[in-house]
Amino acid sequence: MRMHRRFWLPLAALGLAACAQDAPLQSGSAISGHDNPLLAEWQTDFGVPPFDLLRNEHYLPGLREAMALETADVEAIVSNPEPPTFGNTIEALERAGALYTRASRVFGAVTGANTNDALQEVERTLAPEQAAHADDISLNPVLYERVKAVYDQREELGLTPEQLKLLEETHKGFVRRGAALDDASKARMREINKELAELSQRFSQNVLEETNAYELHVTDSADLGDLPPNLVELAAGEATRRGHDAGWSFTLQRPSIDPFLESSPNRDLRRDIFMGYAMRGDNDNERDNKATLSRMAALRAERAKLLGYPTHADFVLSDNMAETPARVMEFLDQVWRPALDVAKRERADMQALMSAEGVEGELEGWDWRHFTEKVRRERYALDQQALRPYFEVNAVRDGVFLVANKLYGLTFHERPDLPRWHPDQQVFEVREVDGSHQGVLYMDFFARESKEGGAWMNSLQKQGRLDGETYPIVTTNFNFPAPTADGVSLITFDDALTLAHECGHALHGLLSDVTYESLGGTSVPRDFVEFGSQIMENWMAEPEVLRLYAKHYQTGEVIPDELVEKLQASATFNQGFVTVEFIAAAFLDMAWHSLTEPVEHDARAFETAEMSRIGLIEEIIPRYRSTYYSHVFAGGYSAGYYAYLWAEVLDKDAFQAFVESGDLFDPETAGRLREEILSKGGTRKGMDMYRAFRGRDPSIEPLLTARGLR
Ligand SMILES: [Zn+2]
Repeated sequence: MRMHRRFWLPLAALGLAACAQDAPLQSGSAISGHDNPLLAEWQTDFGVPPFDLLRNEHYLPGLREAMALETADVEAIVSNPEPPTFGNTIEALERAGALYTRASRVFGAVTGANTNDALQEVERTLAPEQAAHADDISLNPVLYERVKAVYDQREELGLTPEQLKLLEETHKGFVRRGAALDDASKARMREINKELAELSQRFSQNVLEETNAYELHVTDSADLGDLPPNLVELAAGEATRRGHDAGWSFTLQRPSIDPFLESSPNRDLRRDIFMGYAMRGDNDNERDNKATLSRMAALRAERAKLLGYPTHADFVLSDNMAETPARVMEFLDQVWRPALDVAKRERADMQALMSAEGVEGELEGWDWRHFTEKVRRERYALDQQALRPYFEVNAVRDGVFLVANKLYGLTFHERPDLPRWHPDQQVFEVREVDGSHQGVLYMDFFARESKEGGAWMNSLQKQGRLDGETYPIVTTNFNFPAPTADGVSLITFDDALTLAHECGHALHGLLSDVTYESLGGTSVPRDFVEFGSQIMENWMAEPEVLRLYAKHYQTGEVIPDELVEKLQASATFNQGFVTVEFIAAAFLDMAWHSLTEPVEHDARAFETAEMSRIGLIEEIIPRYRSTYYSHVFAGGYSAGYYAYLWAEVLDKDAFQAFVESGDLFDPETAGRLREEILSKGGTRKGMDMYRAFRGRDPSIEPLLTARGLR
């Protein structure tokens, strides 16, 4: 259950994930006195975006004008009469389009976390324009010639290692976007990119609408089972909001559906909501995603061929730590076999319990979570819901801050006066151990219809010092249950790990210490980026850390030892299911992106065939079915979903360095983690940074042990 988090880079939000270019932000280039706040200088503390001034109508003209400014910047580079140099070409590109980068980061963050019909319309209008704009730059032949000229003399230029890396990444970004192709292929690239951008927009909006279209209205309180009181209250509020006089309403958002599936004894209702969730985008209605995603997979296959790769997966992975599809498949297989065996044993346990309760028939997908909770209570006497009072959302947040403080000396100072995009959002200034400014952190905790599902982090501004220091501004987004009438939001232990996870991404952005911002923070390969986030989860689960932050929201009582022991004892419980649903989705992603021909498949049949090939048992569906697999069809994770598990090998092994030191906050180990990895961004190769931290290659053993798959 630690696998459903999303991490999006700004370009991924534009549907351009394959592009390595990520132009910098220079606040100095804002237009003073401009009447559009998206483009004007921001007169705010720390230069945070003026969310209080930004309106729907600012985005379309603002982004168009910013694109035109970037075009002018590029034109200036191209028409420079001087021969190309690192400074007048590579650094100049790093500076180009600062306003467009700034504006599109704000737009991407707001449309992900607080969208509306007007903004969705802007997205639909802009997606093809933005794709064409990106192609105008990366397929500009004169620009590429200049970049290549600098690249070809890279050994003789006396560059620093970071400058050399910037040059290599810039050159690679152009090549991977088709700059080295002939004119006919370039023209086809443009068509493909434009169509992919449109399809990706449609895909994600369909998912959001399908999710919001479903409602389960319950009228008999017996059907709620032992749903905790705060969630009963939320469901009643949802029913009222939806115009019912009475009863309780459940939605397909995780904080609503998951507890219902766990608690409700009514099998028919469980089936109804489970199928509502699983069939999103696969209902043969106007929001159906099957044809859209099949077309996307075919277009990606065609693009890969144009670029000289056998498949889209080969194309993507050549730029990742894993390097080849074969290595990914081998890695997934290695964990899949033991996980499937464990899941089958879990199924047998639940089937036995279900039969003992007199429920006839076979265990089904909609029974799994329900009987999992029963087995968990029976075997470990652990009631997930009974833990909630110890995990009040602000207390967990403070726990993460404490860990960051003990490891890196950072302190967090709330600034409720700074502008936000939603009143629920919290804003903190982050300071270094010596009190100096380090950056700004936004946190947006609660689920609402205007927000996409899952949890993710965005950068609104990245660290860099090409022209004076710019400080990072990052946001974290979650879908925790909204506070009840008393203003309290109690989350699960798993949610607490999610909170730590996104703060891990945020710290990766905040601790960045580089010159070129396009290499800073979380600008690392997809299968390395989840390392920075997932390693933070390890501390939150340690008993000594739990005792620091898990306190009863009413009494302040520290979580009892007995509950901590139960949590520990049940840590590997249900990991067969969790691992299997994850790896099934990872295989599905690899299958869609291993097409050697640009052929459109029947999405349902294709998925069924792949799930049968890997031997997935019927009671489990992949973590994401194709038709709502936003990571790969609306985000930047195509041929990259495996990355979470890959990074978990690294984070479990890295955490052992702290365990081996005898101090979970060992200053020397923490210093090395910060110095060798978190501050370095993408200025070095992932495996090189890892070895510099750990002194050796990562071992898969700690992961298998942690998941009980040994
Ligand atoms: Zn993540």
